[in-house]
Amino acid sequence: MTNIELSELIYPSLSHTADEYEAMYPARDLPAGAKVTRLGPSPTGFIHLGNLYGAFVDERLAHQSGGVFFLRIEDTDDKRYVENAVETIITSLEFFDIKFDEGATLSGDIGDYGDYTQSNRGDIYQAFAKKLLAEGLAYPCFLTEDEITAVREEQDKQKLTPGIYAGWSKYREWDTDDALVSEVESRIKAGEPFVIRLRSKGTPNLSAEDTSRHTVVDAIRGELSVPDNFQDIVIIKQTGIPTYHFAHVVDDHLMRTTHVVRGEEWLPSLPIHVELFEDLGWELPIYCHTAQLMKIGEDGNKRKLSKRKDPELSLDFYRNEGYHPAAVREYLLTILNSNYEEWRMENPDADINDFEFTTEKMSSSGALFDLDKLNDVSKNTLLHIDAAELAAWLKSWSDEFAPEYAYVFKDMDHLAEILDLGRHDARPRADLVYARQIMDFISYFFDESFKIEDEYPAEASADAAEILKAYLASYDHSDDNEQWFGKIRDIATDLGYAAKPKDYKKNPDDYKGHVGHVSTVIRIAIMGRSQSPDVWAIQQILGESKVRERLEAACK
Ligand code: GLU
Repeated sequence: MTNIELSELIYPSLSHTADEYEAMYPARDLPAGAKVTRLGPSPTGFIHLGNLYGAFVDERLAHQSGGVFFLRIEDTDDKRYVENAVETIITSLEFFDIKFDEGATLSGDIGDYGDYTQSNRGDIYQAFAKKLLAEGLAYPCFLTEDEITAVREEQDKQKLTPGIYAGWSKYREWDTDDALVSEVESRIKAGEPFVIRLRSKGTPNLSAEDTSRHTVVDAIRGELSVPDNFQDIVIIKQTGIPTYHFAHVVDDHLMRTTHVVRGEEWLPSLPIHVELFEDLGWELPIYCHTAQLMKIGEDGNKRKLSKRKDPELSLDFYRNEGYHPAAVREYLLTILNSNYEEWRMENPDADINDFEFTTEKMSSSGALFDLDKLNDVSKNTLLHIDAAELAAWLKSWSDEFAPEYAYVFKDMDHLAEILDLGRHDARPRADLVYARQIMDFISYFFDESFKIEDEYPAEASADAAEILKAYLASYDHSDDNEQWFGKIRDIATDLGYAAKPKDYKKNPDDYKGHVGHVSTVIRIAIMGRSQSPDVWAIQQILGESKVRERLEAACK
């Protein structure tokens, strides 16, 4: 039996040959320099910050160069498949303004390089496995799990690299021995289970100096020196489904991907991919192995973000808390490109997409994720969003994630006024961070959520009722800020408080407290808290009757 006969025996009736597939998916007609990138998530139902981080790189590379960014669903690991996961992937990324030009969508595939779901590409993988079999570059392997365990144990004993490679699977040399040829033939005919392995050309267990190496371009890490692979890795599993390695090589070639952006956890398998591309006679894509997302752990050391410990790893977290997608994008760019913050400082009002993103400015040694920094970035981003627009966005968030806040959205103009409070001052107030925090921050404007949260300052608590009565009696809603504060100062001095904090500090025995203590009593009566934006401005938004109502309630 020749290699070709073996390939026919295994795959007698495929719909197309490898050459036909090559012709069906020709090189893309794109301008010079246009990059083709893809996101290849597994539909596990958990879409995380790492996916978004990678997707962002893909999206920028493609769209900055007039190229194509597509979505491929990598569902070859059927154990991990979760219902509706594809929908979650697409809608979560869309929320962060990551849009695909091509690939899987909720209403089927778009584009000429599909199918874009790996589980529908079985025939394609098999056609290329058949080609490798026919060329003697792959073989069927019948080793059972027990036999493989025995190989591992023996290798362990001999202190050899574990795995199936030259000398460890007799089926690798099936064509050198007549008895083996008939065994393989009859087993295939009997329908016994087997995997297809690469027949690696690498020499096993050489010293580091003797191993030959390939130079591979990584756009983030520079030139990588990649050692020869020598493992006969599985390319097609017993189920007929390809492994990640094989699917990656076949798909990224046929879909004409120019830049493969993926996590650095794939670096160790790069030798395998280099050999597969070479065996199939294809050019390597440019790899972009992104650094792991890290955070400073409880012990002060850097560690990987973990699904179990860090809710902020899940993209759902940001949608649920109501982070504005523009803020998350802005923050991701600060960790993706080291020169981004400087650019933003020089171009505070520029569109984020005007920044020229480059892989060279990406860190190769762990990108540090910090929620506090995200919050800082978010405060600034929200300052640049018009109040009415922000109000509309908050409403859409509440409709989806927090309907309990529906009362906030009864009067959208009023809400916009509340959100705009202090944002146009000489030093704008940056109080707003994310939707849930904003709901809390503005809660005192609404009777449904208003409550007294803080206690009157000790210096003035005994006089609280008297202060509030005097304030109510003198209250004139049309007073300007200066007249208004003048009245508070008068109340303070009448009741024995210093008109200025520094007078009180100098002679504490002469006063009960100072004007700040008096105004805090008023602030708490109206807002329920001792810290807030300007009281006069808040009163103007609340309206006269509500101010009076709250003061009267507090006097009782
Ligand atoms: N399905 C792979 C993963 O989820 C994708 C890796 C790649 O982008 O090549 O890790």
